[in-house]
Amino acid sequence: MAAAEAATTAAARIANLIGEADSVVALTGAGISVPSGIPDFRSPGTGLWANVNPMEVAHIDAFHADPERFWSFYGQRFQTLEDKRPNRAHAALVELERAGLLDAVITQNIDRLHARAGTNELVEVHGTIAHSSCLVCRSRYELGDVRRLISSAPDGVPRCECGEALKPGVVLFGEYLPAEAIARAEALAAAADLLLCIGSSLEVYPVASLPETTLASGGQIAILTKSSTPFDQLAAVCAGGDIVEELDAVLAAVGLAIPEAPRPEL
Ligand code: ZN
Repeated sequence: MAAAEAATTAAARIANLIGEADSVVALTGAGISVPSGIPDFRSPGTGLWANVNPMEVAHIDAFHADPERFWSFYGQRFQTLEDKRPNRAHAALVELERAGLLDAVITQNIDRLHARAGTNELVEVHGTIAHSSCLVCRSRYELGDVRRLISSAPDGVPRCECGEALKPGVVLFGEYLPAEAIARAEALAAAADLLLCIGSSLEVYPVASLPETTLASGGQIAILTKSSTPFDQLAAVCAGGDIVEELDAVLAAVGLAIPEAPRPEL
């Protein structure tokens, strides 16, 4: 079968499943942000993570032990993500939500692109770069303010008014996952008739457990990702084509289109 035909077939089947489901929930991973120019750090040798060990530099112990070293890396990461824009795949999920065909997006991504694209019901299970906070007095700072603090600090460490180094709102290695977000993700996955898994290898907890939750509750899963996943054999549909093209085709098949004039944040 030709690639284009395969994409159309998978998209049509996903569209049918969406039409039959009362509750559809999307679960997204790094793959949905790749078309925005954000490399998946689990792909070896890519971008910012090429020369560092994420387990070492993005670990809560590294933050406490040496905030200056931690922020010299994280400041760069903020900078790299700053000029990235949501892509048509993010936009497709917004259109599905606005049409009442998608209840929520659960994401592993910390790049805030779903929020910027306009997704309303969003669960960020690994946190977000949108804000940083003080672990001592709990003050919270928005990204723009954190960026300004980084550039004005002599050592590059953004500090709270109380003097403590700020911690990005992302879940670092060695940290607990945000309990409220995890509980919400589990509840959504349990209630979903269809869990649409996009751009995730479904190997990292907590995301790896959500398809199991949906299946155990009698729902179906559809997988749209380039890599294989542990759930491929259990999925109602498994599509390995280009995420943007596949979602465009899904939208067309349910009778929706992404507006020609991009939304301001796109
Ligand atoms: Zn403070």
